[in-house]
Amino acid sequence: MIMNGKELSLKIKENLKKEVEKLDPKPSLVVIQVGEDPASSIYVNSKAKLAREIGYEFEHAKFDENVSEEELIQKIEYINSSDSINGVIVQLPIPKHLDANKIINKINPTKDIDGLTELNAGKLLTSKASLVSCTPKGIITLLKEYNVPFEGKHVVIVGRSNLVGKPLIGLCLNENATVTVCHSKTKDLAKVTKKADILIVAVGKAKLITADYVRKGAVVVDVGINRVDGKLYGDVDFESVSKKAKLITPVPGGVGPMTTISLMENVLVSYNEMKKRR
Ligand code: NAP
Repeated sequence: MIMNGKELSLKIKENLKKEVEKLDPKPSLVVIQVGEDPASSIYVNSKAKLAREIGYEFEHAKFDENVSEEELIQKIEYINSSDSINGVIVQLPIPKHLDANKIINKINPTKDIDGLTELNAGKLLTSKASLVSCTPKGIITLLKEYNVPFEGKHVVIVGRSNLVGKPLIGLCLNENATVTVCHSKTKDLAKVTKKADILIVAVGKAKLITADYVRKGAVVVDVGINRVDGKLYGDVDFESVSKKAKLITPVPGGVGPMTTISLMENVLVSYNEMKKRR
């Protein structure tokens, strides 16, 4: 059976819209984009469309690809001090002359709706985070919607990026799962992944995970987005694995829409917390 992220994201969107209708002023977010990377432009435009449909104020802060670190940090400092902006993200990747880690950590953690500052990443591991990285948050929301139990289950995560794999460790531990993390140096990957009750794959290699890597009846979450000859593929070979898995996410239509809608949920979290502090 398929876990339909697209459908769930639309349901969450409608709920957010209803909540936002009652709010004045409206929640607001800024997306900072540097340069003209076509994939980034597609992502930013789809965030802008969704945010406006929900009823948020949206600013697309676009910078030339030669922008200096100082200029970007100035913009972030302005956003940090603004009473009317609730959240900000820096669309990644950014050009190599800029230190992405340094720039992201200039964001006030209370406005860090991507959950990527070191403070929010650390809070996740001590169970105190309110702004959680969007892809991992979306994955947990989707699994819960399909009543997938975590407690005592073995979750195997393939990939240890700061964006996906690492925050998932904290979230799955908080749900009382037993967690194993694999990466490019893991020996005999299939032997480990076959032990998973829940297998989450975030690698960036089309169809890396075939049926031989999966236990019959496992739940499989495919985070990968790989463009091959103009077509999108996940990291999981959907055709063979879907015959073996109990539940599986498709690409597209699985984790992708859950990531964007989780960002929108985080805007409201940040808005409500700012309101409380006033
Ligand atoms: P990343 O930063 O490139 O990390 C990839 C991870 O995979 C690394 O930890 C790497 O190990 C590991 N890896 C590479 N080859 C491997 C192999 N053969 N066996 C086991 N592990 C291997 O990627 P990311 O940002 O996490 O993204 C992963 C994928 O998810 C990409 O396709 C990306 O486009 C997609 N993504 C999708 C969404 C969404 O909303 N659907 C959101 C974010 C990312 P090392 O650490 O040892 O190098």
